[in-house]
Amino acid sequence: MHAALPHNESDRLAALRALCQLDTPPDPEFDLITELAAKTFNAPLAAISLIDADRQWFKSRVGIAVSETPRDVAFCAHAIHIAEPTVVLDARTDGRFADNPLVTGAPHIRFYVGVPLRNPAGLGLGTLCIIGTEPRAAFTDAEAAVLQYLSALVMARLDTLRTIGYVDSLTLLPNRTRFVQDLQAWMVDAAAPPEQRAAVAIDICEADYFHSMERALGCDYAEGYIVAAKQRLVAALPHTSWYRIGPTLFACVRAVPEPDDLDAVFDELWQATAAPLEHLGIPHASAASAGAVRLDHRGDAADIVRALISAVDSARQQGIGRCTFEQCDDERQRLAFRLLTALPAALAANDQLSLHYQPRVALGSGLCIGVEALLRWQHPTMGNVAPADFIALAEKTALMWRVTQWVLNAGFEQAAKWQKLGYRFSVSLNISAHDLDHADFADMLETLLAKHALQTALIELEFTESAMSLRPERLHEQLQQIRALGFQLSIDDFGTGYSNLTYLKRLPATVIKIDQSFVRNVLADDKDATIVRAIIALGHELGYMVVAEGIESQAVHDQVRLWGCDEGQGYHIARPMPVALLEAWLLWPIGTRIAAS
Ligand code: C2E
Ligand code: MG
Ligand code: MG
Repeated sequence: MHAALPHNESDRLAALRALCQLDTPPDPEFDLITELAAKTFNAPLAAISLIDADRQWFKSRVGIAVSETPRDVAFCAHAIHIAEPTVVLDARTDGRFADNPLVTGAPHIRFYVGVPLRNPAGLGLGTLCIIGTEPRAAFTDAEAAVLQYLSALVMARLDTLRTIGYVDSLTLLPNRTRFVQDLQAWMVDAAAPPEQRAAVAIDICEADYFHSMERALGCDYAEGYIVAAKQRLVAALPHTSWYRIGPTLFACVRAVPEPDDLDAVFDELWQATAAPLEHLGIPHASAASAGAVRLDHRGDAADIVRALISAVDSARQQGIGRCTFEQCDDERQRLAFRLLTALPAALAANDQLSLHYQPRVALGSGLCIGVEALLRWQHPTMGNVAPADFIALAEKTALMWRVTQWVLNAGFEQAAKWQKLGYRFSVSLNISAHDLDHADFADMLETLLAKHALQTALIELEFTESAMSLRPERLHEQLQQIRALGFQLSIDDFGTGYSNLTYLKRLPATVIKIDQSFVRNVLADDKDATIVRAIIALGHELGYMVVAEGIESQAVHDQVRLWGCDEGQGYHIARPMPVALLEAWLLWPIGTRIAAS
C-alpha cells in the first residue's frame, strides 16, 4: 500500500529543499547518530531518510547498500505523516507493508521503527529509522523515547547546518563555505573514488554584464535575475545539489565514472542555459561559461574551488563555453601571477631589470644609426624572464606605467651618457599603447628630460599599431606633444595590427618597422615578399623611413636592401647586448661585425 501524499506536500518539499541536504556527501555527525541507533536497538539496518518527491534518499545509512529507493516502497514515507514513532513489529502482518517488495523480497524487512524528523512547522521531512529482518515481540515506550531523543539530535544538526553561515540568503542554496566543506567529505567518500567525481561550476553571465544590469536596472532586478537563473538550473538538473559560490557562479558535484561523462554534464548545462533567460519581461541572451575539476585534484577542497574558478575563466576567455581544469594551464596562470606580483619588487630593486641594446644599421653602408633598448629581467629565483612573458601581462595592469617609467628613465640615462661620449646613433625605446592613453605621458617625458640632459632628436619612441585603437583625438594629441618635445616616433611591428592606412597618412611618426614575421619568410613565401615590398613602397610614398626587423640571414638582408628598405635590425646583424658588449661591437670594423654578433 502506498503512503498517501500529505495535503501540504508542496510546502513540505519546499522545506526539505531549504535544508540543502539532498544529494550531499556523508556527514560524520549524522553517521554517529545512525550507528548509535543501530547499536542501541541491535538493529542490522538504520538510516536517516529524507522523503523527496519521488524517492527516499539516505543522508546516513548503516547496513543499507543503496543511496536511495523509490518513494512508493519506503516505510518512512508512511512514518513522516505521524507525529509518534511508527512501530512495525512484523511487516508480514501489517496491511500497509505485507505486499511491499522490500518485505516479500530482499532485504526481507520484518521489524521497523521510524521517528519522523519534523521541522518547527510540523512538516515531516524524513525519519530516523531502525530496521530488522526478524520480527520482534515488542518495542517499549522507553525505547521509543530514546529513538526520539536521537531524532531530536538529527533535527538539531540539520538546523545547525542550515543556519550557521552555510546558506546563501538570496537563493537559499548552500554557499561557498558549505561547498568547500562538502567537497572535503566527497574527496574521501568511500562510495566512489575521487577521480569518478567532478566539481562543476557554471557562471551564468560575465561580471561586467551583471554590474551593468545592477547599474541600469537596480540591485533588486539583478537579484531577481540570479534567482531566476537558480530556478532554471534546479529545474533542468533535478537530483543535483546546487551551491551558489560566487555572485553569478553556481556549482555542484557530479558523478563522472566514464571519460565521456563530463562532456555529458557540460551538454546538460549547455542545454539548460542555451535559451535566453527572461526576467520581468527582459530576455538575457545566454552567456554562460562552465568549468570542471575532478576531485582527484592535487590540492585540497579550497584549491578545487580556486581551480574551478580558473577553469570557468579560461572557458570564458577562450570563448569556448566549457573548460576542464588542466594542471599545465594552471601552472602557466600561476607563473603569470607570480611574475606580476614579483614585478613591483623588481622595479624597486636596482639589480633585476636592465636594458640590452640591439643595433639597427643602414642597409646600404652598414653604419649603426641606432640601437633599440630591450628590457631584460633577471629574477633572483626564477632566472631570466623574457619580455614576451611579462610585458603583455603588465600591460593588463597599472604596473605597465611604472615599467615604462623605469625603461624611459634608464634609457634616457644611458642615451645621455652616450651623447656626452660623442656617439651619434639614436636610442629607440619601446612604449606600450596604453601609455599613450595616459593623460600624463608627455608630462612624464618632460620631467625625465629635466633630469637627464639630452638631445631628444636622438631618442626614438616605438609604439605599435594597437595604439590606433585608442581614442583618435587623444592619440593624435599625445603624439603631437611628443614630437613637439623633439622625439622621433616609429611604428613598431608594422603589418601585424590594424594597419589603418588613413592613420598612416596623418600620424606624426617618421619610421615604420616591418614586423619580423613577414621579413623572416621573404625568400620562402611569395605573399610575405609581396607584403614587405608593398610596405616599403607605401612607407616611402608617405615619407617614412622603413626598417626591416628580424633579419636573420645575409640573403634576407640583401633581398630587403634590393627592394629599397632603408635600415635593418636582426640577429644576423647583431643580437641585443648589454652596454659594454655593444660598445665593443661598435668598435669592430663594419665588415667583420656580422661574424662576431
Ligand atoms: P620588439 O619591440 O619588436 O623588439 C624586437 C624583438 O625581436 C626583441 O625581442 C628582439 O630581441 C627580437 N629580435 C631582434 N632581432 C631578431 C631576429 O633576427 N630574429 C628573431 N627571432 N628575433 C629578433 P625581445 O627583447 O624578446 O622583446 C620582445 C618584445 O617585448 C619587443 O618586441 C617589445 O614589444 C617588448 N619589449 C621589450 N622591451 C620592452 C620595453 O622596454 N617596453 C615595452 N613596452 N615593450 C618592450
Ligand atoms: Mg620595438
Ligand atoms: Mg618590433
